[in-house]
Amino acid sequence: MTALVLGGTAEARDLATLLDRAGVDFVSSLAGRVARPRLPVGPVRIGGFGGVAGLVTYLAEHAVTAVVDATHPFAEGMTANAIAACAASGVPLLRLERPGWADAPGADAWHWVGDHAAAAVLVAGLGKRPFLTVGRQELGAFIGPLSGHAVLVRVVDVPDLAVPASWTLVTSRGPYHAAGERSLMTDHGADALVTKDSGGTYTWPKLEVAGELGLPVVVVRRRETPGGAVTVSGPADAAAWVRARGGPAYSQAGGEVPALGRPRLALVEPADERGQQYSDDGPHRGQRDQ
Ligand code: NAP
Repeated sequence: MTALVLGGTAEARDLATLLDRAGVDFVSSLAGRVARPRLPVGPVRIGGFGGVAGLVTYLAEHAVTAVVDATHPFAEGMTANAIAACAASGVPLLRLERPGWADAPGADAWHWVGDHAAAAVLVAGLGKRPFLTVGRQELGAFIGPLSGHAVLVRVVDVPDLAVPASWTLVTSRGPYHAAGERSLMTDHGADALVTKDSGGTYTWPKLEVAGELGLPVVVVRRRETPGGAVTVSGPADAAAWVRARGGPAYSQAGGEVPALGRPRLALVEPADERGQQYSDDGPHRGQRDQ
């Protein structure tokens, strides 16, 4: 068997570690969006497949017998393509998705919105110095509504688009810790926080600190997961699913899937392809295209 792991997340890397230890034949796939991706163990391919048709071709050419879609909860295009391509190819598909923050402490008081455009309009009225942590691909929606605000925006790679001169851009990679988040937010005088419902623990501290500081929080809701794939929330469950599709040699090899030393359902860092140590590169005020 050959399993394909659609990755770009910490839990995809953890799954790769588990499959590698179990001797499963697999390849991880990354979109190739970021300059310095964190690579999983084992074989890796990088770059898009070319839509549903390209993925169908890839599955056939590489004799893929199982696919795990472990992409980020907001990587909706890849998830939809995986569902369509696996259905067309008759290849079993599993979705590995970390739980969101809807049940987290304080979540009832947050402003939940359906998309980034709605978040931008809402936060424009909630604060003058908002802290945006939505990722560089989503910044375009905020530029109009927040062009006159003193925005602190945190991204991994400098965005392609020009941001207003009143914005301060910080490039960094998670995971983050409360002390650093407190300094960043208080130094800026942040008066609101915007995030998407990435879930997990690695970027949770900003929400903890926002709660302490009494800041309004705007959270972009996840879209409904499309039907077509069984979903699990932890890498160990995904590894067991893959091994169960590999026949007796895989399901018996190595006995139990080894634990990685963290709680299974909390093993969900949104630190993505970009996730690394806390390493702010410093602020870039009003940074333009680079
Ligand atoms: P997306 O909108 O769902 O996907 C756009 C296109 O990128 C896909 O149609 C596919 O191109 C390619 N692609 C995405 N993930 C891929 C993968 N793992 N392997 C090969 N091709 C992939 O994805 P996105 O939101 O741009 O995210 C890109 C990657 O970054 C994902 O792998 C995701 O896990 C990670 N990520 C995303 C976010 C986020 O907030 N969206 C956050 C952190 C990490 P083709 O159609 O050509 O196959």
